Amino acid sequence: MTWRFALVIEPVASDDSRTDFSATFREIDPSAPALSVGELSTQRGDGIFESIGVVDRHPQETQAHLDRLVHSAGLCDLPSPHLEQWRQAVDVAAAHCPPEGEGVIKLILSRGVEHGPTPTAWVTAAQAADNTAVRKRGVRVVTLDRGYGIDTPARAPWLLLGAKTLSYAVNMAAIREAKRRDADDAIFVSSDGFVLEAPTASLILRLGDRYVTPAPNGGILHGTTQLSLFEHLAAQGLQTGYEVIPVASLARADAAWLVSSVRLAAPIRAIDGVDVAVDEELTASFNRYLLSPRD
Ligand code: PLP
Repeated sequence: MTWRFALVIEPVASDDSRTDFSATFREIDPSAPALSVGELSTQRGDGIFESIGVVDRHPQETQAHLDRLVHSAGLCDLPSPHLEQWRQAVDVAAAHCPPEGEGVIKLILSRGVEHGPTPTAWVTAAQAADNTAVRKRGVRVVTLDRGYGIDTPARAPWLLLGAKTLSYAVNMAAIREAKRRDADDAIFVSSDGFVLEAPTASLILRLGDRYVTPAPNGGILHGTTQLSLFEHLAAQGLQTGYEVIPVASLARADAAWLVSSVRLAAPIRAIDGVDVAVDEELTASFNRYLLSPRD
């Protein structure tokens, strides 16, 4: 049976000195209408979000997600989220998850209602899709041009390329295009030939005994799952690095993965129709780590 939980948050100033924020939370019926028709998140996609994986009621890497929420808010000129308030909201949502199984907690901070004085914020918890098969079987991907150069984020910060905004229509369109091309997912590449990220995941390549990922230079999200997996690999003495990766390097990869908070590590088994070796054992060990409690 699927389950869902929702909490509306009354955002407070980032320097609010309270220690208990429960009075700023209001549980709502997750299946009832809740947003005003003037909501700018729905009218314009003007807001930011985070998706936190939950395993057996434990929200994974909460701090990294909150840090990225604050980073996205800064890029979007939204009021800075109060970290402790949001952490408590995550804890409340996690406490409403079933004791076993995987879920997803979403944090949403919107510009608010048109002409209204304050942002709108809410947190939901829901059952996660079953990703067992994709973690084992893997994904076929195609490269898709994202339409801008590697230096665009620095020249045009108003494109908000490093923020996790609610405007995901382009990302969803890329996945549909990948499916039209007989693949499961996409890897965005810059118009000048560098690898970026997938529409909803980070990319990790194994080149020999090094693990590399595209440098989060403002044009892509810095993935919390990639960050966590790199810490895990580094703790085992393995070499990891952020690099500017030419598209040609994809063909040299000894293995590759799409990684994200809910799907976790999905091995890539083909890029643009060319098979990539899948290391089942290594992928299984990545997912064992990613399913263990992580903070
Ligand atoms: N890049 C994009 C565009 C994403 O949407 C996501 C996750 O949704 C990621 C990367 C991976 O981020 P994380 O590992 O924090 O889920």
